[in-house]
Amino acid sequence: MSSDSCIFCKIVNGEIPSKKVFENEMALAFRDINPCAPQHILLIPKIHLQDLNALKDATLAGELLSLVPKIASQEGFSSYRTVINTGAESGQTVFHLHLHIIAGRNLSWPPG
Ligand code: C5P
Repeated sequence: MSSDSCIFCKIVNGEIPSKKVFENEMALAFRDINPCAPQHILLIPKIHLQDLNALKDATLAGELLSLVPKIASQEGFSSYRTVINTGAESGQTVFHLHLHIIAGRNLSWPPG
C-alpha cells in the first residue's frame, strides 16, 4: 500500500532516487538527503504508514527495531542515536514513518 503524494513511497517505488544502504521485503534504509551528522540514515517501512501511531503490526514493529542495530553494525557505528518524530510539533516533516539513525559526532541531550 503506498500513497501517491508521499515522497518516501516514491523512494520505495524507485520514482525518486536514494542512496540505499539496506533493503528487504518489509523495509528500506537510505542516506538522509540533508544529514544532521556525518552519518544519518533513515529506515522506513515499505508500506505507507503516516507515523508511529499508525504502526499496529507488531511483526513490522519488531522488524524495524531489530534492523536498527543491524544497519548500525553494517555501517560501523559504535555509538548512534535513533529518533522517531511523531507529529509536526515533534519535528516530523515527512508523514511516512521513519527511524532516524544518526552517528559520527558527539550528540547533545536533550534535543531541542
Ligand atoms: O523526522 P522528520 O520528518 O523531520 O525527518 C524527515 C527527514 O527526511 C529529514 O531529515 C529530511 O532531510 C529527510 N528527507 C530525505 N529525502 C527527501 C526528503 C526528506 O532524506 N527526499
